This record gives sequence, C-alpha cells and structure tokens, in this order.
Amino acid sequence: MSAVVFPSKVYAAIRAHGEETYPHECCGALLGKSADGSWQIVESVKAGNTRTDSAHNRYNISPLELVKIEREARSKKLEIAGFYHSHPDHPAQWSQTDFAEAHWLGCCYVITEVATGKAAVTNSFLLTGTSEEDKRFELQTIQVEN
Ligand SMILES: [Zn+2]
Repeated sequence: MSAVVFPSKVYAAIRAHGEETYPHECCGALLGKSADGSWQIVESVKAGNTRTDSAHNRYNISPLELVKIEREARSKKLEIAGFYHSHPDHPAQWSQTDFAEAHWLGCCYVITEVATGKAAVTNSFLLTGTSEEDKRFELQTIQVEN
C-alpha cells in the first residue's frame, strides 16, 4: 500500500474545511513532493466549490482556479499531489462521480466524511494506472506527523 504523509496542521486544516462548509462539500488541492512512490504533503489550498447543481455530492475546481494553484505550486517548487473534498453525512468512500472526474494519474484523492458537522473518517485514494481506460483508485495509508 502506498502512503501519503501529512503534517498534522495540514491534516487538521482539510478536515476543518469540511466542517466549515457543512452541510455542503468543501474541496481543495494538496501541494507536496513525491518520494519513493509516496507523497509528502506540504500544504493545502482551499478552492471554491463551483458546482451549483448539487453542492451536496459533487465538487469541482474551476480550470482558472486550477491554473492559479499550479502556478503557486511551481513558485514554491512543489507539485500538485492531489485533491481533497468532503462527504457531508456520507462515508469517506469515492463515488462514481468522483471516479469519473478524477484524471490526475499518480495523485491522491482525499475524502473526509463529515457526520452531522463533525469531521469523522478521512481516507486517501491514489489514482493509479496509465490512462483513462485502466485507471483505478487504491486505498492509501495516511501518516500524520508533527
Ligand atoms: Zn466525493
């Protein structure tokens, strides 16, 4: 199983973001560095949820926002390590929509269940494969360090 390592501050921040936006989903990006097939997360960037049709179970980062995030990452010599979002009152498991909208091979997709306003389980899934045709999500080990 691959691992993703979070500084405790960043881990707390993405979980708190889900509590802030409850009962709606939050979303954002994770910036970090890759090392031996694992990601070391350095910071998180909040994004506005641009889905207005159903902010409850769908999320999106606008292309413009993504360009800004990529530029920010580059200026800090970091990479986009993945994306995070919350599942208000739903388990921290990826949905078919999450899978369909995941295109960043090698990146982490982190989901936090927010149960009645409180961050509960957080899971990370690595999008593996070589193309859209054979991509799949693999559960990762989350390590939180101080
Ligand atoms: Zn989702």
